[in-house]
Amino acid sequence: MNFDIVIIGAGPGGIFAAYELVKLKPELKIAVFEAGHSLDKRRCPIDGDKIKSCIGCKSCSIMSGFGGAGAFSDGKYNITNDFGGTLYEYIGKKHALELMHYVDEINMRFGGEGCKLYSTAGTRFKTLCIQNDLHLLDASVRHLGTDINYVVLENIYAQLKEKVTFFFDTPVETIKLIPGGYEIRVKDGAYSCEKCIVSVGRSGSKWMEKICKELSIPTESNRVDLGVRVELPATVFAHLTDELYESKIVYRTEKYGDKVRTFCMNPKGAVVNENTNGIITVNGHSYEDPDMQTENTNFALLVSLHFSEPFKDSNGYGESIARLSNMLGGGVIVQRFGDLIRGRRSTVGRMEGAFITPTLQATPGDLSLVLPKRILDGIIEMIYALDKVAPGTANEDTLLYGVEVKFYNMEVEVNKQLESCYHGLYIIGDGSGITHSLSHASASGVHVARSIVE
Ligand SMILES: Cc1cc2nc3c(=O)[nH]c(=O)nc-3n(C[C@H](O)[C@H](O)[C@H](O)COP(=O)(O)OP(=O)(O)OC[C@H]3O[C@@H](n4cnc5c(N)ncnc54)[C@H](O)[C@@H]3O)c2cc1C
Repeated sequence: MNFDIVIIGAGPGGIFAAYELVKLKPELKIAVFEAGHSLDKRRCPIDGDKIKSCIGCKSCSIMSGFGGAGAFSDGKYNITNDFGGTLYEYIGKKHALELMHYVDEINMRFGGEGCKLYSTAGTRFKTLCIQNDLHLLDASVRHLGTDINYVVLENIYAQLKEKVTFFFDTPVETIKLIPGGYEIRVKDGAYSCEKCIVSVGRSGSKWMEKICKELSIPTESNRVDLGVRVELPATVFAHLTDELYESKIVYRTEKYGDKVRTFCMNPKGAVVNENTNGIITVNGHSYEDPDMQTENTNFALLVSLHFSEPFKDSNGYGESIARLSNMLGGGVIVQRFGDLIRGRRSTVGRMEGAFITPTLQATPGDLSLVLPKRILDGIIEMIYALDKVAPGTANEDTLLYGVEVKFYNMEVEVNKQLESCYHGLYIIGDGSGITHSLSHASASGVHVARSIVE
């Protein structure tokens, strides 16, 4: 065998699996294959000046490379079983939380010390929310910020590269069963290993599907979350974000009984493009360094959809909606809330007259031509509900960017060790469909490493 263990994907799942393996058994021969670039070479070409929107790079530096989709993320490590994945269903709630705390300790040791840990414990906002038919979920959140998150990754890489062989810009094409292990095929050759950990995240979702088909690994369709990213002056949410940083609030709509929730709140942050398999959607992040912060706060409002019979392809549905917005807007569309309510599109002129400066250059347009009525109605109801706990949310100039889509990989059938039906083939992180966050993906990596060593 060339290696004892091959890890496919260097996102948080893959990184923490490698970290724990090296810590517990330094003599192991470990290789990591990563489709994207090394951390120092990751650079999104959008500079807001010469290149204003996504040009569809072959390897998207936002989604791929050392650090995975998390590298330029907001670095919000939510320590909770209430959202961010269902890892606890496999390993138990207590153990899942312990692993998330363990990951947090490592992040602190590798450069994150001093970053604040926010918590919903004992907050008065819980009561305020419930009085207004809104539900605040429990969590502790460590906000590293995009800048400190990068430093942590740099430091972890510096330590890992001494013990682990990294292959960057090397997408794995196939995994083949061989006697006693696996053969990992890449463009220029093949490598053998005894055990293989697959951690390919959202950007590897199509590839994961192909591998599961080839190896007949059972899978189940997952949900897709569809909605918009809201951007408003930071002062509107400051009373919540100063205390909690991120508040995950759920609302059940009166009209349809659908649940709409806030997601990925970025105080004083920026709205960004996200390129998933060539489809441009919207996301957000923020910096810990006050010099890099903006005057706006952004967060997503999402509705979950899960198709099962006769149509099963929840992601395909989300993709079609995102494609429609890309077709109409050439990328992401932005609309003032006031224009949406009046049933008219936003125009360059109307945007220029707004009392808010957008942090992302998007095409002014009409989101009601893109999002299904049911989803848009839910989002509008939620904006009015949020206006009661954060007055100003339903202002005319509140910006809505669309569409935001959270694609979830199909759920791969694995056991408590996150091992597939093949002995020694593990599927972890967002690529497994089980996790959807930095902390859960990282925790799944630690869990698998410990299981392998045991
Ligand atoms: C802009 C943005 C902001 C975010 N902010 C937050 C946040 O604040 N908090 C939070 O909890 N989550 C956030 N997320 C989500 C978070 O980044 C992911 O949940 C997390 O990175 C998942 O980790 P992972 O290791 O499972 O997968 P990923 O991080 O996606 O890593 C998978 C890696 O596998 C590689 N890969 C794919 N296919 C192959 C192949 N065939 N061969 C080799 N390599 C392959 C990819 O290039 C990628 O680097 C954000 C995501 C984005 C895009």
